[in-house]
Amino acid sequence: MAQIKTYLIVTVDPVHIGTGGYRLGRVDNAIVRDPGTNIPKIPGTSISGAARSYAASQINSSGCAGQGVGENGHCGKENCPICYTFGHTAGDKSNAGVINFHDAYIVFFPVFSLAGTVWVTTLDILKRYGLKIDPESELAEDEVLVGSGLAGKPGLNLGWLLLGVSETPIEISQGSSFHTAQSGNSEDLTLFTSWELMPQDIKDKVVITTPRLFSHIVNSNLEVRTSVSIDPGTGAAKPGALFTYEAIPRGAIMAMELVKDDYRGNFQKTNSWTDPFHVAESGLKAIEYLGVGGMGTRGFGRFRIQKY
Ligand SMILES: [Zn+2]
Repeated sequence: MAQIKTYLIVTVDPVHIGTGGYRLGRVDNAIVRDPGTNIPKIPGTSISGAARSYAASQINSSGCAGQGVGENGHCGKENCPICYTFGHTAGDKSNAGVINFHDAYIVFFPVFSLAGTVWVTTLDILKRYGLKIDPESELAEDEVLVGSGLAGKPGLNLGWLLLGVSETPIEISQGSSFHTAQSGNSEDLTLFTSWELMPQDIKDKVVITTPRLFSHIVNSNLEVRTSVSIDPGTGAAKPGALFTYEAIPRGAIMAMELVKDDYRGNFQKTNSWTDPFHVAESGLKAIEYLGVGGMGTRGFGRFRIQKY
């Protein structure tokens, strides 16, 4: 039986996972987006690659860290926790890993307003992750539902958008999880209950909007940074080589699912790891310090898992 864990992530730096560096509108380096909603996400493959490499470095297994190509490739041994968890390719032999990393999606997106930073979401997103609102309320197109720190104010500005706010404050709490409700053949070990651990500040400044407006708000409030290309020959900035990145800003609250399908049932425990989930989580923990996306030296890419 597959097991699912849903993790709550808070971005500590801006996170940029590029699409391959073509120019899109105002930025040179666009980030990966979900095709269905046009909302930026962090691809599971990027998270898995970083987690793999950090977990491997904890057991000094550099060959098992990367993509498994070349001389010093994946060991592929049955008792290797890295190859078992993340899969391996060695010569003509390969094995799928037992943990699947799914993409991390934005749940609450931080936007600066006259009322300070607010966290924007939609009813669909909350429902998806088993969160419910109290009292149950309908959403009008020109109005947003808000937490107690914002309710009853004359209006709320999000960038250049001015929206009406609900009179009655709403409160978000944990309901039943999506997977428990939707799926009979997987076991849900969701850890998204960590909503309870969120600072009250954030809960009071929640803003619920329509999906259409949400996509618009997210895309017009991404972080855009300008950087400069360095000429490797001279060590100086290349003339005319300014370029811009877009990134998911710090303080975004995201959710990510890991699915364990341990079809081999033969994980060999080590002193630090008794389950493939532990191997993956060790790697995820290191992302809090080392980041994902390969731009750590530019101050990008770190996120924190809220709870294990
Ligand atoms: Zn290995």
